[in-house]
Amino acid sequence: PLSSPLDLTTIAKGIAADMRDEVQRGKVADYIPPLAQVSPDRFGIAIVTADGQQHCAGDADEPFSIQSISKVFALTLAIGAVGDELWARVGREPSGSAFNSIVQLESEHGIPRNPFINAGAIVVTDVLLGHLEPREAIGQMLRFVRELSGDDTIAIDESVARAEQDTGFRNKALANYMRAFGNLNGEVDKVLGTYFHFCALAMSCRQLAMAGRYLMNGGRVDGHGVVTARRARRINALMMSCGHYDNSGDFAYRIGLPGKSGVGGGILCVAPGIASVAVWSPGLNAAGNSHLGTMALERLVHLTGWSVFEPR
Ligand code: GLU
Repeated sequence: PLSSPLDLTTIAKGIAADMRDEVQRGKVADYIPPLAQVSPDRFGIAIVTADGQQHCAGDADEPFSIQSISKVFALTLAIGAVGDELWARVGREPSGSAFNSIVQLESEHGIPRNPFINAGAIVVTDVLLGHLEPREAIGQMLRFVRELSGDDTIAIDESVARAEQDTGFRNKALANYMRAFGNLNGEVDKVLGTYFHFCALAMSCRQLAMAGRYLMNGGRVDGHGVVTARRARRINALMMSCGHYDNSGDFAYRIGLPGKSGVGGGILCVAPGIASVAVWSPGLNAAGNSHLGTMALERLVHLTGWSVFEPR
């Protein structure tokens, strides 16, 4: 694989230039009103390598709504809080259905398929609220991503959180349904209010790529352990198998790296031992994943050989 700093900066800039010229840009999510305001012309990429070098291009410093990428950080905090007990309440299998799907909950008795679909992340949030008030859990999340990124300016976009609260009827249905099965302990409004605040975190590609370093480095960042190496490996495995909703198989096929997308158009992608990468372009494909973001990552792994399925 190419890895000199010059190569990666050139690669990032080349990809950003190519993406700027793409005509097919996908469709911006409009079911959360503030997200519909974001221009599909935006594209950013940030690559942070294991030696700490940053290679950015395009709109890499523009904060965007990280949405479901927050599910990775929420899962990390919940595993830290309750360990493997978490798996009594949420599964570890790809869902094969949409991010906000309710269908499997009935046959699977209110146990969501995995922590990266909405139902799963709502349960994960409920677990965090088992020992914290919503305000404390939101504060913990904010401190966590700021510390991971080494950037205290990261904030939550309250207008996005409020819009989700006002329009999140499906999420309310999911939460109530799980509560009926006994898989939600907190009050539905409190759990969802917290979940929406996690989704409304605004981060740039650079901040996100920095935040993903613990997953590329066996759980360690700047010499201190965020999670054990085993947990980092397992979170990466879940990102590979479940990180792109019902496109997870296609993402593994095309990119071959653990990744997590969000409907804001961001993707956090990890090349273990090599790099943490974030891309952002708000236009989505039919499954709700960034169209150009996916294409950009495909190009990156083609040029670098970073897929975990390449011989090392
Ligand atoms: N906040 C969004 C929702 O609950 C997250 C969806 C996503 O990024 O997949 O609908």
